[in-house]
Amino acid sequence: MKGLSILGSTGSIGRNCLRVIEDFNRDFRIVGLAAGKNISLLAEQIQRFKPAIVSLSNPSCVEALQLQLQQLPVKFQPKIVVGGEGLIEVATHPESNLVVSAIVGVTGLLPTFEAIQSGKSIALANKEIMVVAGELVTEAARMKGVEILPVDSEHNAIHQCLRSGKKEEVRRVILTASGGPFLKFSATRMRTVTPKMALQHPTWTMGNRITIDSATLMNKGFEILEAKWLFDLPVDKICVVIHPQSTVHSMVEFVDGSVIAQLGITDMRHPIQYALTYPNREMTCQKNLDFGKIQKLEFMEPDLRKFPCLDLAYSAARQLGAHPCTLNAADEVAVDAFLKGKIPFLMIPRIVKKMMVFSNGQSKFSRVQEILEYDGMIRKETQRLIKKDYLS
Ligand code: NDP
Repeated sequence: MKGLSILGSTGSIGRNCLRVIEDFNRDFRIVGLAAGKNISLLAEQIQRFKPAIVSLSNPSCVEALQLQLQQLPVKFQPKIVVGGEGLIEVATHPESNLVVSAIVGVTGLLPTFEAIQSGKSIALANKEIMVVAGELVTEAARMKGVEILPVDSEHNAIHQCLRSGKKEEVRRVILTASGGPFLKFSATRMRTVTPKMALQHPTWTMGNRITIDSATLMNKGFEILEAKWLFDLPVDKICVVIHPQSTVHSMVEFVDGSVIAQLGITDMRHPIQYALTYPNREMTCQKNLDFGKIQKLEFMEPDLRKFPCLDLAYSAARQLGAHPCTLNAADEVAVDAFLKGKIPFLMIPRIVKKMMVFSNGQSKFSRVQEILEYDGMIRKETQRLIKKDYLS
């Protein structure tokens, strides 16, 4: 039986992960759960899965959680820890073998890094970790002999496709992108985009940040960096193709011209299950792809002028240094400002570009702490820029 810790158990990935576990409850034991602020859902999860340890982002939420636990019909009291230290305690708990890394943003970096250092396998959903610290994280995993299994559907697909050839036989990997809700919008119509419109993803249901990043195609840009580090590939071997149906989750082209694709329905439980049960494949209770209902599979080149975030990400991936870290931090702050109605949608790439020019990205990091400090600095500067240029 595998012991599992889930970082971000109350989020979209975390909840889907627990749904998968419910289907395989004889094979897994939930050792630890980490949430941010959603106390009611965490209390329900504690009652259902009885973890040894849980973590909350804020000490002020502990009392409220204890109160909720007392009111639930089944009494169970796990160890409750808080903040960054608490996340590390959950991630490195001696009884867990596999850590699902599904906290959004760089908050997930340190606990995931510490989990690797303590020899845990990682089911990785949090792509920001690979964007900002791919080199350090993959190097640590290599040194410790730790497996990082991608949960992100595209990388999960590539992981599966790569099983049919040798690494030196790969010509390129092809990441598919739905194109988001504004694929067919004209440049003029893009000016009218509101947070509500941008939060309507055509094919996937996800957390807010990744949904907005999918609408700007920054998400696909992050995935280029994620693929680079996860599969140790040069950026020029990583292509993006728009595929509005999201049925082909990604592809690998080999040197003999064969293209291996992974197809499936748009349900994150599939890649999560693959990562949890790897190297085995287990029978699923989820729906399967119905070929009778697929009317067409379209593929097209992305329009980099309409979606400049993708181009910015390619540039950061080629230059490396601190550029990917700037890309992620500036984007997160800009997305937050957009969601709060402070800036228009089209300002997101402009702000990220300005920050990439401002920071010039020369720094090279040798420790996770340096990345976190740099990330904090870029966030402050981005907030300052937004205040100065757009809110004054
Ligand atoms: P959500 O916003 O739905 O969930 C985020 C999770 O992180 C929640 O459990 C939240 O807790 C927790 N969290 C936030 N801040 C903190 C904090 N400071 N300390 C502890 N926990 C915190 O995000 P998603 O599930 O959509 O995405 C998670 C990651 O997976 C992202 O990196 C995303 O890019 C990636 N991903 C997601 C996919 C998807 O389908 N959703 C697909 C591929 C990748 P709470 O809600 O309790 O505050």
